[in-house]
Formats: sequence, structure tokens, C-alpha cells
Amino acid sequence: MPRYEFRCRACAATFEVSRPMSDSAAPASCPQGHGDTVKLLSTVSVGGGAGRGGAAQAAPAPAAGGGGGCCGGGCC
Ligand SMILES: [Zn+2]
Repeated sequence: MPRYEFRCRACAATFEVSRPMSDSAAPASCPQGHGDTVKLLSTVSVGGGAGRGGAAQAAPAPAAGGGGGCCGGGCC
């Protein structure tokens, strides 16, 4: 389930809410109970859908052992 980040305008707290996408536009109350919140531009990590089992976070790590530049790994 995607998570959305909100900010409370009453106490300036930010918090995350897990909710289905269909409810993404619904208002959220902050943990302190304030209702004056705004939804932030969230980094929704919902994955592309097809494919992966969702094990790894989306970390674009360069492929190790690709055998690229020889001056980068200290082999020369
Ligand atoms: Zn609040």
C-alpha cells in the first residue's frame, strides 16, 4: 500500500499515512489530532507493478562486478 506524507499546518508535524491510492486525496488528521493538513509531494514507493517481489527498496545501485573502469576500483 502506498504511503503518503502529510504536513500539519497547526503543529508543523509531518507524518505518513498508508492508504490505498483511491483514498490518496482524502484528508488526514495529524497524530496530534489537527485536521488542517496538506499532502506533500510524496515519494510513493509502490513499485512498477509487474515483476519484482518487492524485496529491495528502489536503490539504483550500480551493478557491482560489471568490469567497468579499471581506475575506479583500484586495480591499476
Ligand atoms: Zn498537528
